[in-house]
Amino acid sequence: MNILVINCGSSSVKFQIVRTDIDLIEKNQDKRLASGNLERVGSQALITLQTEGQPKIKQALPIRDHRAALDFILRWIISPESKINGINSLADIHAVGHRVVHGAEKFTMSILIDDKVIDGIEDCIDLAPLHNPANLKGIIAARDLLGPGVPQVAVFDTAFHSTMPETSYLYAIPYQLYRRHKIRKYGFHGTSHRYIAYRYRQLAGVEREKVNIITLHLGNGCSACAIKEGESIDTSMGLTPLEGLVMGTRGGDIDPAIIEFLHHKEGMSLNEIDTVLNKQSGLLGLSGLTNDMRDLLAEEHEHQDRRARLAIDIFCGRARKYIGAYVAEMHGADAIAFAGGIGENSPEVRQRICNGLEWFGITLDDKLNKQIVGGKEGEITTKDSRVKVYVIPTNEEMLIARDTVRCVKDVPRRW
Ligand code: ADP
Repeated sequence: MNILVINCGSSSVKFQIVRTDIDLIEKNQDKRLASGNLERVGSQALITLQTEGQPKIKQALPIRDHRAALDFILRWIISPESKINGINSLADIHAVGHRVVHGAEKFTMSILIDDKVIDGIEDCIDLAPLHNPANLKGIIAARDLLGPGVPQVAVFDTAFHSTMPETSYLYAIPYQLYRRHKIRKYGFHGTSHRYIAYRYRQLAGVEREKVNIITLHLGNGCSACAIKEGESIDTSMGLTPLEGLVMGTRGGDIDPAIIEFLHHKEGMSLNEIDTVLNKQSGLLGLSGLTNDMRDLLAEEHEHQDRRARLAIDIFCGRARKYIGAYVAEMHGADAIAFAGGIGENSPEVRQRICNGLEWFGITLDDKLNKQIVGGKEGEITTKDSRVKVYVIPTNEEMLIARDTVRCVKDVPRRW
């Protein structure tokens, strides 16, 4: 089957075409055929398109909204210009898989989309006011453009964490607030953590129930996940993606009293404080320079910038603290796995996070750590390291495509 995978953000649409099916999944022979990204949807959009094996095409065009973006994507996919093998008309697109950010307690697995599911995703808007509406726009646009006969599947960022026990997901605030408003930890990046766990299982050759690992997705957004006996038992993001690790522009864990303090001292509104916490904190806020880890590392090395070093040290220290907490919570772990732009590409950040973790049985192999970058996958610890460390480039789109096939063929699976 040819699956169109769509990831709609508030002003962006990312897509992939993946050829997959039940037998291809089993043989790990599914393939990405093409991918692309439309940024700044709503104005002059920056468009990147690529068919596998072909050069990237970049252009800028006015794109009004998500529907226009999808229309553009579909036209390109079926055009001779895209040169996608085996796709010549819309009939060659057999199903659509959507990344949906928040499924709350309603959606604990990927699901075939019907009107009831659309209503359910709408009900979760309160919890993800920026993301779920954009995801819904993608779903409605795909249904309008491809017709109701093409099945669509929703794959939720929160679903993998639905196995967390209430001792992990409840905040220690009045219980009625959970009852009344479902205020609790949900966690995000679930599809990524699940993919990393799946690849670890293949690399280490262990059964699903024996997967005891800590996964670190370190990109612009960052989160950690404690996976015990194959299930997420805790994760660092919370009711929203603000909690937990230090990220590009989010600070992660802070004392919530800072919000009231800011309101009094700086006269900021709740909206302004939300902007500070989501867009001006983290690596950017600490360094005063950039949210980009690559640039921060360069500043530290080339100009000995003190705040760049501080930002990276706090970033690495927070990740280490979560590893320690999860090791205790899981009663030990067999491995740690790094993913995301930083986790996949920065041997230095990996080394700084693992620094001092020898007590826990981690000995990084310097050479391997330096070698495994740029999309490579593998182990970066020495042979005698009791706890293994892996780099596993994440591939959420592949999982979304696989879940889409499984839902369409009625063989859903947790992971
Ligand atoms: P997103 O969460 O937006 O998908 P990515 O997973 O692409 O983001 O991660 C982006 C982050 O990865 C940026 O901070 C970027 O600087 C960092 N990054 C990418 N390549 C490197 C590298 N070689 N060294 C250090 N950091 C890197």
